[in-house]
Amino acid sequence: MASRIVPIRCPYGTTAVMAYLVLGAEPALVDTGDATHARGPIAMALREHGLDLGDVRTVVNTHGHYDHAGGNAAVAAIRPPGSVGNARPAVLIHEAGGALLADAAPHLEGYFTAAARLLAQPAQEATLRAGFATLWGGPSTPTRTLADGDRVDLGGGVVLDVLHLPGHADDHVGLFWEREGVLIAGDAAQGTGSRVGGGPLYFGSVRMARASLARLLAVPFRTLHVSHPFGMLGTDDRATTYGAAGGRAFLAASLDVLDTTEAAVRAALRRRPAEPFPAFARAVTAELERAGRWPLRPDPQTGVPPNAAPTLAGIVAEVDGG
Ligand SMILES: [Zn+2]
Repeated sequence: MASRIVPIRCPYGTTAVMAYLVLGAEPALVDTGDATHARGPIAMALREHGLDLGDVRTVVNTHGHYDHAGGNAAVAAIRPPGSVGNARPAVLIHEAGGALLADAAPHLEGYFTAAARLLAQPAQEATLRAGFATLWGGPSTPTRTLADGDRVDLGGGVVLDVLHLPGHADDHVGLFWEREGVLIAGDAAQGTGSRVGGGPLYFGSVRMARASLARLLAVPFRTLHVSHPFGMLGTDDRATTYGAAGGRAFLAASLDVLDTTEAAVRAALRRRPAEPFPAFARAVTAELERAGRWPLRPDPQTGVPPNAAPTLAGIVAEVDGG
């Protein structure tokens, strides 16, 4: 039954991040939210199923970003009452994600400050760095690293196929429970992004992000779960769970958003080829506003829509590189 995968909404600022309770032979979590979520909404969802954090035997991370793996340390620290020996849950992540679980540095020097650095916002970067410790709960250690094509057998008939889906992050995986047609795509597909008036966040290769979206479209899912309430084209609706048709429309829209953004980057490159990135990103924003495919609310300080800069930089790098 699909209800053996239970979505857990973890509030995050004006938006939310999802974790999933998976009820195999023993309880598992797909993602653990940020450092504040494990003992909050995740523990609450477990209680509704007569469980607590100490009952979780497996954590599978879709990727190592702080808002998906920030609760790993908290979950791993809690052992079942009366347990002896090492009863910590298994922690599974793609082989490229181990560094993100081990240390704050790859977060701080990577995706977490990417937009602030690209748009030359040192004060914003300093604020982000100062706040990171409250979001990331400290190191956790993978007990198994995942690769494309692996299977995660959680017992009780719950077998998740691992799909490596780089683009949002190099270590991103999707999880497909074939028997029930349930696909957890995490942040691999983003529509118009998680912020109203913003853009999608692909920190890695945008070309790979497209390939990952094409791959997701080929998965015969009946239910699609994503990790944030992402925007769609032409509607204010934001969902984290879709049926077969809605999920395919969302994936197609995610590709369309990248096509539209790439066209805007190419147009801006033709008009102003030698601009420094912050000014160039404003020129792309103007092109996107002309295209008018989804409403944009540029940040008053940078003139660029929230979250949009890393994807723009990725497209520029790939368009320039031929
Ligand atoms: Zn992420």
